[in-house]
Amino acid sequence: MVIVFKPNAPQETKAGIKQNLENQGYMINEINGINTTIYGIIGDTSALDINMLRIYDCVEKVLRVSEPFKRANRAFHPDDSVVNVSGVPVGGRKIQVIAGPCSVESQEQVITVAKSVKLGGATLMRGGAFKPRTSPYSFQGLKELGLDYLKAAREETGLPIVTEIMSADKIERFVEDVDLIQVGARNMQNFELLKELGKTRTPILLKRGLSATIEEWIMSAEYIMAGGNENVILCERGIRTFEHYTRNTLDLSAIPAVKKLSHLPVIVDPSHAAGLWWMVEPLAKAAVAVGADGLLIEVHNDPEHAKCDGAQSLKPERFARLMGELKGIAQIVGRDL
Ligand code: PEP
Ligand code: MN
Repeated sequence: MVIVFKPNAPQETKAGIKQNLENQGYMINEINGINTTIYGIIGDTSALDINMLRIYDCVEKVLRVSEPFKRANRAFHPDDSVVNVSGVPVGGRKIQVIAGPCSVESQEQVITVAKSVKLGGATLMRGGAFKPRTSPYSFQGLKELGLDYLKAAREETGLPIVTEIMSADKIERFVEDVDLIQVGARNMQNFELLKELGKTRTPILLKRGLSATIEEWIMSAEYIMAGGNENVILCERGIRTFEHYTRNTLDLSAIPAVKKLSHLPVIVDPSHAAGLWWMVEPLAKAAVAVGADGLLIEVHNDPEHAKCDGAQSLKPERFARLMGELKGIAQIVGRDL
């Protein structure tokens, strides 16, 4: 349930209503805008008498929220959330682009790619140190050493680091070293991991699960937010369908849907959706056109010899060209890039 107060509603009345609700066991998510205050009431509100709240003169309206997610719900927070990733605002007017290799292979490789994506206009860099691979015999990542190499690349370029966490026992190290912690598609419903990440205040990039509905995906964001970490960015990366031509099917409709349901920023990863480098460019353009707040693009200096996902990786020159082309589309939809 949501209470929207009239502008200039007396502070004492609002505080009294809040106290009363807290005494009944509800949690209140308070949003203070320029003119108005909104209380998001969290808990089982089915027994709450809506008319008892409507009698206050300073209450503009009271709404029941039917979706199971509350903190992530746009009704609780009508303005778009902007998540600050070490000084890079995600969810504002500027579309932020995360770029880099699928996995960190060596210090030289990650520094080379980081420098080139920065030149191309990326504002955040990525690289997997812990890799969730379908086969246990595939390259599993350089792990802690990979994090050291990413830090060296950050030092060289100033670009904040985005990298994937796979287990809760690594949280301390990630909070220390990583600017934006990625939860991969395969861990979207690892609820124990989500709960632990909710205890941190580090921004989280939550990828959509392989076969997750939009509601399940936002509920996973709710797990993180329920712990007090509101810094969640969603990432559409394609879902599993009957189509095998592409690695996954990019669900572009998820972007406007998430924007309607939630205030959280949402970005698109065309690389893991397509699985094919030549499709990354048109899908990235489409993502910007439908309102994505950012992109995640795999870039490799030598895709033919990449240890992971070479077939979907752009070479730095193509990435730079794409960034130039995206600017025009961003402008048409009222964004900067
Ligand atoms: C990745 O970003 O490298 C990755 C493994 O992505 P996903 O979890 O979307 O498959
Ligand atoms: Mn990858």
